[in-house]
Formats: sequence, C-alpha cells, structure tokens
Amino acid sequence: MVAGLAPGEAIVNPDKMFSDNNIEMRINRVNSIDSKKKQITLDDGKTISYDKLVLGMGASPFMPPIDGVDNNGVFSLRALGDAEKIRNYMETRNPSKLVFVGAGFISLEVAALVKDMKGKNYQVDVIELMDHPLPLMLDPEMGKTIHTHLVDNGFRMHMGRRVEKILGENGQVTGVQLDDGQSVDADMVFMNVGARPNLELAENAGIEMGRFGIRVNEFLETSDPDIMAGGDCIDNYHFITKRSAGTQLRGPAVIQGRLIAKRLAGYEIPFPGLLGNSAVKIFDKHVAATGFSETQAREEGFEPVSATVESRSKHAMIPGVQPWTLKLVFDKKTHKLLGGQIISSSGEPVKEIDAVNALIVGGKTIADLTTFMCAGNPDCSSEPSAEPITLAAEQALQKAGKPA
Ligand SMILES: Cc1cc2nc3c(=O)[nH]c(=O)nc-3n(C[C@H](O)[C@H](O)[C@H](O)COP(=O)(O)OP(=O)(O)OC[C@H]3O[C@@H](n4cnc5c(N)ncnc54)[C@H](O)[C@@H]3O)c2cc1C
Repeated sequence: MVAGLAPGEAIVNPDKMFSDNNIEMRINRVNSIDSKKKQITLDDGKTISYDKLVLGMGASPFMPPIDGVDNNGVFSLRALGDAEKIRNYMETRNPSKLVFVGAGFISLEVAALVKDMKGKNYQVDVIELMDHPLPLMLDPEMGKTIHTHLVDNGFRMHMGRRVEKILGENGQVTGVQLDDGQSVDADMVFMNVGARPNLELAENAGIEMGRFGIRVNEFLETSDPDIMAGGDCIDNYHFITKRSAGTQLRGPAVIQGRLIAKRLAGYEIPFPGLLGNSAVKIFDKHVAATGFSETQAREEGFEPVSATVESRSKHAMIPGVQPWTLKLVFDKKTHKLLGGQIISSSGEPVKEIDAVNALIVGGKTIADLTTFMCAGNPDCSSEPSAEPITLAAEQALQKAGKPA
C-alpha cells in the first residue's frame, strides 16, 4: 500500500464474510475482561457476556526508548493506519533520505518496495545491530548474499551498528546517530526492531503469562478454562525444542485460529509448535527459511552439520533458468534435519522450503533425505541429479559420517 501496489480496501476483508456466517462484527476496543462474571467491557461502556472467550490481541511495534523517537517523521509499521500515515507523510513531505532501523523482513521488504517506486530517487540507509541482514532467517554467509544484493541496488548498509539517538530540529527528524559516532541524514525514519505482545487486557484479567506472552496449553487454552488465545499474543513454543519461542508470524496465527475453532467444536488436535517458516522478496531475490539456522541451532545446544547447494530453477538448457541456493542444517548426534534457508532469483524455488518444513515435522534424518525424490520436469524444476535437498543430504552424510 505504501508503495502503491495495493489499495487499503484490498487488505481489509468485507464485513459480508462475517454477516453471511451469522457472525456479528463489532469494531470497538475491549477495555476489560471480568472472568468471574464472564463479561467483557467495550470502550463505549457496553458489556458483552460470553461462554467462551478467544483472545487474539496481536502485538505492537517495539519503539526502543532512545532520544528523539517522538520526532515527526519517525514511523513503525504494523497496521493499515500506520501505512496510511506513512503514505500521507511521503506524499506531503516528499522525503528523499530514508533510514530503516532494523534489517528484518519488514524493514527490507518496505525499503525495497519504496526504492523501486517509479519517478523517485530515495537515498536509503539500513542500520542493523547484528552483522548481516535478515539475522533471524539467515546464517552470516547467506546473509552476505543479501547484503551484496542490497548494496548493488543502491542501499547504504550499516551492519553491526546500534542507533544511539534520533536527531531532530524543531520536532522534525533530521537524522540518526550511530554508536560509532557517525550520523546519517534522514527526512524519514522507519523503526522496525521487533514487536511486543499486547498483554494488558489478559494480565488485568489475571490470566497466567509465559516467557513471551499468554501461557497456553497445546490446545490453546489459557489458565482460565473458558478463555483461549492464539497468535502473536501467546507464549508460542518451538516444534523442535518444545521450549518457548517469541516468533510472531501469520502462518501459526491462522492455524491457531482454526485449531481454536476446532477445539470449541469438540476436536482434540494439539498445536505442534512453531518452526518459524518465513519468506520475503527483496527486489528480485526471494528468501525463505524454516527451523533453526546453523547459528540458532548452536545457541540451542545442538552440534550442527550443514550443507549448502547451488541449484537451478529449471534444467540448465531451458531459457529463463535462474540460480538458487539451499542450505540445510542437521543435528550431528541424531542426524535429524533442523532447518533450511533458501535464496533464489525466481519465485518458485522458495516453496521448496515447505518441503524442508514437512521433512522436519516428519523427523527425517540425513539418510532419509538422500532418498528424497522430487517431481522433475525440465521447465519447472532442476534436473533430478541436481535436486538440492538430496545433494545437501549427500554432502551432510559425508561430513557427519554414520550416526553414533
Ligand atoms: C508490516 C508487516 C508485515 C508482515 N508480513 C508478514 C509475512 O509476510 N509473513 C508472516 O508470516 N507474517 C508477517 N507479519 C506478521 C503477521 O502480520 C502477524 O504475525 C499476524 O498478523 C499475527 O496475527 P494475530 O491475529 O495474532 O495479530 P494481529 O493480526 O496483529 O491482530 C490483532 C488485532 O487485535 C486488535 N486488538 C488488540 N487489542 C485489542 C483490544 N483491547 N480490543 C480490541 N481489539 C484489539 C488489534 O488492533 C489487531 O487488529 C507481518 C507483520 C507486519 C507488521
């Protein structure tokens, strides 16, 4: 929407979807929950009684408490209203120097879309605390490919740098100051450095909290038997370790919403945990990841074995063939698949991350993956002999040897 690709109305579902299904949609803020009376109170003072209550309050962008974040021209992006404010500012103020704080997928996606806008010539600076872009998705060497791609597209990258202060004059942003003393000019600053779950409502209702949000069991039930919760506001857990995970993504929120509905209808399907499957398009590069990166696997206590394979979107002889790279990460002890990362110059291969995802869910090992067979066709897949999942497994087998 900010880059003019979609109008606001295209993003919001029509109320008809609800009314056709006998659901009354009320646009209002819930101010409090009285779990004893089983009642919620809305902003206008009205109350609604419930038998079962489902909480899906999402998260809000985290604004670090640094000097100058309240200057005019400093934005974060969460909802449609934020996008409208950003677009309005860009149309009326005509900024030319844009600074993106954080090199996660939201920052980079917006930065690439905006940079590509016709008739504009923005100077774009990206500042990131870690030493490479997309640090939650990619290992350093994979991140370097994206770093080069961004530099090639005119971005100025400041990796391993912290923003100390937002600079301003008369309340209007003029730049950011970095921890090495350098300052970067800015007419507009995007802060996208993570989101915090919206918990106030649940906390005030006395619902138990976990490490990253509302504590739920595998059926998404909270400490109150009549209140369920899902999405960005809950304490999610990782599929592999079963430990708390702060990952906030759309896929799990959708599946959790459906699971809550099934639970209310009497089904007993547990939520399996998150793998953090995510994808992003940056200019003409497509990036996708699932499970643990090698860095994360090490942090989680595994001894990882990894393999990286250069592949092709089609058979080498077919016009339009594009390169892509797959990295797989395994656990040396059990040989189980722990994660995968893809960087591709065309859209199709990113979906292979879903195959990687399914293989992790299935508990597959290096040996299993050496016999993994994919559909092959010259015009829509690499040659079977160059299929990257099996090639990565062959490489990993040599590195890891026979399982202990
Ligand atoms: C710019 C952007 C791009 C993203 N892109 C991707 C992507 O490509 N892929 C991906 O997997 N994820 C993406 N995400 C993350 C994804 O949007 C979230 O993980 C997902 O929306 C979480 O769903 P949710 O229902 O938990 O919360 P939300 O979608 O945030 O919905 C929560 C809703 O609850 C409302 N609410 C909160 N408190 C109250 C209250 N007291 N009373 C009434 N209503 C209340 C909020 O206003 C909000 O509308 C992106 C996020 C952003 C910000």
